[in-house]
Amino acid sequence: MCKDVVENILEYIDSELDDQTLKALEEHTSECPECGEFVKTYKKMLWLSGKLKEKTFVTPEIRDRLKKLLKHKVSTLHI
Ligand SMILES: [Zn+2]
Repeated sequence: MCKDVVENILEYIDSELDDQTLKALEEHTSECPECGEFVKTYKKMLWLSGKLKEKTFVTPEIRDRLKKLLKHKVSTLHI
Protein backbone atom coordinates (compact mmCIF):
# COMPACT_ATOMS: atom_id res chain seq x y z
CA MET A 1 0.00 0.00 0.00
CA CYS A 2 2.84 2.40 0.72
CA LYS A 3 3.97 1.80 -2.82
CA ASP A 4 0.48 2.68 -4.10
CA VAL A 5 0.60 5.95 -2.22
CA VAL A 6 3.89 6.87 -3.82
CA GLU A 7 2.65 5.89 -7.26
CA ASN A 8 -0.54 7.88 -6.83
CA ILE A 9 0.97 10.94 -5.27
CA LEU A 10 1.18 12.97 -8.46
CA GLU A 11 -2.43 12.23 -9.33
CA TYR A 12 -3.31 13.01 -5.75
CA ILE A 13 -1.60 16.36 -5.93
CA ASP A 14 -3.31 17.06 -9.23
CA SER A 15 -6.65 16.01 -7.74
CA GLU A 16 -6.99 13.53 -10.56
CA LEU A 17 -7.71 10.47 -8.47
CA ASP A 18 -11.09 8.82 -8.56
CA ASP A 19 -13.03 8.95 -5.30
CA GLN A 20 -12.27 5.37 -4.35
CA THR A 21 -8.53 5.69 -4.79
CA LEU A 22 -8.49 9.08 -3.11
CA LYS A 23 -10.34 7.72 -0.11
CA ALA A 24 -8.04 4.74 0.18
CA LEU A 25 -5.00 6.96 -0.10
CA GLU A 26 -6.22 9.42 2.51
CA GLU A 27 -7.15 6.60 4.85
CA HIS A 28 -3.71 5.13 4.46
CA THR A 29 -1.86 8.41 4.96
CA SER A 30 -3.83 9.06 8.14
CA GLU A 31 -2.76 5.69 9.51
CA CYS A 32 0.76 5.54 8.15
CA PRO A 33 3.02 8.31 9.49
CA GLU A 34 5.60 7.76 6.80
CA CYS A 35 3.16 8.20 3.94
CA GLY A 36 1.41 11.06 5.70
CA GLU A 37 4.71 12.84 6.02
CA PHE A 38 5.49 12.02 2.42
CA VAL A 39 2.28 13.61 1.12
CA LYS A 40 2.77 16.62 3.37
CA THR A 41 6.32 17.10 2.14
CA TYR A 42 5.29 17.11 -1.50
CA LYS A 43 2.40 19.44 -0.93
CA LYS A 44 4.71 21.80 0.93
CA MET A 45 7.28 21.58 -1.83
CA LEU A 46 4.67 22.57 -4.40
CA TRP A 47 3.45 25.41 -2.24
CA LEU A 48 7.00 26.66 -1.84
CA SER A 49 7.58 26.45 -5.57
CA GLY A 50 4.60 28.76 -6.01
CA LYS A 51 2.90 26.36 -8.36
CA LEU A 52 0.24 25.19 -6.00
CA LYS A 53 -2.34 27.89 -5.48
CA GLU A 54 -5.86 27.51 -4.18
CA LYS A 55 -6.48 24.85 -6.76
CA THR A 56 -3.83 22.26 -7.30
CA PHE A 57 -1.79 22.98 -10.38
CA VAL A 58 1.35 21.21 -11.41
CA THR A 59 3.24 22.10 -14.56
CA PRO A 60 4.80 19.33 -16.69
CA GLU A 61 8.18 20.64 -15.54
CA ILE A 62 7.29 20.22 -11.89
CA ARG A 63 5.76 16.82 -12.60
CA ASP A 64 8.97 15.61 -14.21
CA ARG A 65 10.99 16.85 -11.29
CA LEU A 66 8.66 15.22 -8.81
CA LYS A 67 8.66 11.95 -10.72
CA LYS A 68 12.44 11.80 -10.50
CA LEU A 69 12.29 12.51 -6.80
CA LEU A 70 9.56 9.92 -6.38
CA LYS A 71 11.61 7.27 -8.11
CA HIS A 72 14.40 8.00 -5.69
CA LYS A 73 11.99 7.91 -2.76
CA VAL A 74 10.51 4.59 -3.89
CA SER A 75 13.96 3.07 -3.95
CA THR A 76 14.50 4.12 -0.34
CA LEU A 77 11.16 2.80 0.97
CA HIS A 78 11.01 -0.63 2.47
CA ILE A 79 8.47 -2.05 0.08
ZN1 LIG B 1 2.35 3.91 4.09
